Amino acid sequence: MQNVVVRQRGAARVRAGHAWIYRSDIVSADGIAPGATVAVSDDKGKILGSAFYSSSSQIALRMISAQKLAAAELPALLRQRIAAAVRYRERVVSNTDAYRVIFSEADFLPGLIVDRYHDLLSMQVLTQAMDRAETRAVIVTGLIEELAPAAIVERADPRIRELEQLPARPSEVLHGEKTGTIFSMNGVRFRYQALAGQKTGAFLDQRENYAAAAQYARGEALDVFCYEGGFALHLARVCGKVTGVDSSRPALEMAEANEQLNSEVHGGNEIEWIEANAFDLLKDYAAAGRQYDAIVLDPPPFARSKRALDSALRGYKELNLRALKMLRPGGILVSCSCSYHLSEAEFVAMLAEAAADARRPLRILEKRTQAKDHPILVSVPETGYLKCIICVAT
Ligand code: SAH
Repeated sequence: MQNVVVRQRGAARVRAGHAWIYRSDIVSADGIAPGATVAVSDDKGKILGSAFYSSSSQIALRMISAQKLAAAELPALLRQRIAAAVRYRERVVSNTDAYRVIFSEADFLPGLIVDRYHDLLSMQVLTQAMDRAETRAVIVTGLIEELAPAAIVERADPRIRELEQLPARPSEVLHGEKTGTIFSMNGVRFRYQALAGQKTGAFLDQRENYAAAAQYARGEALDVFCYEGGFALHLARVCGKVTGVDSSRPALEMAEANEQLNSEVHGGNEIEWIEANAFDLLKDYAAAGRQYDAIVLDPPPFARSKRALDSALRGYKELNLRALKMLRPGGILVSCSCSYHLSEAEFVAMLAEAAADARRPLRILEKRTQAKDHPILVSVPETGYLKCIICVAT
């Protein structure tokens, strides 16, 4: 196996438990093939372990072991990591047949994401190393042996593949035939279409937060950025009236189909789906004096980089301020952010500003994060990204 020498800063990062080494921290990668597994050493020749090399990413190396591996040991290591990921979910996941089975670095399988939706597995490959034919074969075989899925479907993201300089690939079935199924989270049922046109799949990372929100919400609820109805359909079990808002028509059509699947558990509770720009709609509803007992805000990531943070904070604040003005006394605000670049402390500080401007003191009921099947590695902070703060307005 070839060796890559990393500078002091990169070596210190790895010794502190991080998985990434940036290109600026490697001495040279001349002659290393894209996606190769390499030995990594510091500039004194001391071995740091083994890593996957990417010729295109700024993250040039992703550590896969603290040992120097022989190339022949890689398949067994990957197979063992897959098994460990599955065992971990057996411990921490309950009340669902949909969850993330493999979460990249957080499962020591950098560049691989696998989600389970009942009997289907959806897999995404993000790096050159994981895209190698022999590695894919080990992964697919390992998943079949561990989980016996009816089918495995690959969701190829053209943008990610291009950035990683990987050849274009269709989204397609890799094993079995099925491409659609029904799964359930906390007893709420959802449809899944693995090969539908637009981005598909659920936001599995919010699964535990749906149940938490439903513990507190009552009365009339508004789910802003509702997508296919994750929060709204959970709230419909406890709220007399729920309004879901999203700008995507296909997402709302799916939400409506999901509503049908759950009609028996919603009793006489009413759900409506509205296609609108959330910012405009909140402004109009606030001006019209509408009031709610519970409001969920789960926008797309506004801060995709550190630089975008200021404008992202203004966006979050505007949404939260408008929502607070529409909450009845004692109303529940479930406010989320999936931007890694925004810390929980900054997010709570934004909430404090919105609460002050709205003159609505807020109490935090729960500071929550992503579901446990999206593990957060303490030494790789980038693995933790979701904030879900549940508050009660006075
Ligand atoms: N709460 C959802 C996930 C939301 S993802 C769940 O738990 O499943 C973010 C959603 O915001 C997407 O469905 C996207 O269509 C929608 N969206 C993005 N910009 C929007 C805007 N300006 N107004 C309304 N919806 C928007």
